[in-house]
Amino acid sequence: MFTNLQDKLDRAFKVLKGQGSITEINVAETMKEIRKALLDADVNYKTAKTFTDDVKQKALGQNVLTSISPGQLLTKIMSDELSDLMGGTVSELETQKNPTIILIAGLNGAGKTTFSGKLANFLKDKKGKKPLLVAGDVYRPAAIDQLQILGEQVGVPVYVNRESTDPIAIAREGVEAAKRDGNNIVIIDTAGRLAIDEALMLEITAVKEATQPHEILFVVDSMTGQDAVNTAKAFNDRLDFTGVVLTKLDGDTRGGAALSIKSVVNKPIKFIGTGEKMEALDVFYPERMASRILGMGDVVSLVERAQQQFDEKEAAELQKKIRKNKFDFNDFRSQIQQIKKMGNMKDLMGMIPGVGKALKDVEVDDNAFKPIEAIIDSMTPFERENPDAIDQRRRTRIAKGSGTQLEEVNRLMKQFSDMRKVMKQMSNPAMAAKMMRNMP
Ligand code: GDP
Repeated sequence: MFTNLQDKLDRAFKVLKGQGSITEINVAETMKEIRKALLDADVNYKTAKTFTDDVKQKALGQNVLTSISPGQLLTKIMSDELSDLMGGTVSELETQKNPTIILIAGLNGAGKTTFSGKLANFLKDKKGKKPLLVAGDVYRPAAIDQLQILGEQVGVPVYVNRESTDPIAIAREGVEAAKRDGNNIVIIDTAGRLAIDEALMLEITAVKEATQPHEILFVVDSMTGQDAVNTAKAFNDRLDFTGVVLTKLDGDTRGGAALSIKSVVNKPIKFIGTGEKMEALDVFYPERMASRILGMGDVVSLVERAQQQFDEKEAAELQKKIRKNKFDFNDFRSQIQQIKKMGNMKDLMGMIPGVGKALKDVEVDDNAFKPIEAIIDSMTPFERENPDAIDQRRRTRIAKGSGTQLEEVNRLMKQFSDMRKVMKQMSNPAMAAKMMRNMP
């Protein structure tokens, strides 16, 4: 995410390296570089200019008061200003009305249907809500199928009326169905178009009038940069939406849309999509995003994602098993699955301060776990529960079954046994203390 922009900002900061203080000259030079970096990132010209002017003012104003290095001072100012540029504080989604009606709008391919599924999943799992999805794209039967598949995947019902070609009627019926069935959230997925056209605008405004939604979320592909901002403006002029959803941030190296959309349409970014999976949705926190853009990492989000995936009760069970040396391949596999659910590996590592930058040219393989999972899948239930019983004969069979080499199976067995030993030692406080003492 945003690797290109990070790189260029990093270079801009180099101007200040080794400088003892901030002066008109070195700040002007740095700001020129930062403005160039922002324009390259496809940030709107006016936004980039106002932004750099503000940062410059603040930097020159604060210089006398602080003793930190110019680079540190500027990083701090930049981080505050970037955060402000993206909205400053988090903007919560309204979910308290019963039912809360949420209308989803945007062009075709922006990621509306995917986001509708993700949002339903998020509100059900994280907020304890009972959502209903409404399939309002009457022009593409495939879109209705797609929403039904997603609904099934996340365990949320989908209101469908394949007989009707009237999106307004369907939206109304959906809201009625929700009231009847006790769903406290209604998410209405609407039809898009390839480009903005009058018919689309009339239709979506009519759906808005008919359903009186509490939230209208405009979904846009962040990779389209300035186009995303222009489309947002056109939709907002007609629809007066309540928030923006930026999708495909996982593939966005430049970040122009994320940085300019708030200042152009004056509506908050509420969510970001960071992958195709149903879990790849984050609430948008401007401060955390600013930290990430400046390569300062985002430990808060990383810890939160981990907490979401790891259940405390499960962790306690696991502890018990480890103490009794009963940690087996079933546990190992479920750990791998939980880590995978946390999201794209490179994205996760980018949240660790300093690591994002170091990894920018490194390919992090999301399939790294594949051979390990194949090996575990080829074991019999008995073997998974009794790792010690896996002898050479069994290993040869497992290698064949999983399409891997015997050496790979041997390596995994060795790693697993080492891991088990360390886990066992660490779970015993006396042993753990002894190990710590012996560390260099
Ligand atoms: P719609 O036409 O607006 O409903 O768009 P879809 O929901 O069908 O999404 C279009 C494509 O974008 C699909 O292939 C999705 O899997 C993909 N997509 C949606 N959101 C994301 C995201 O956050 N990251 C990535 N990498 N792909 C996404």
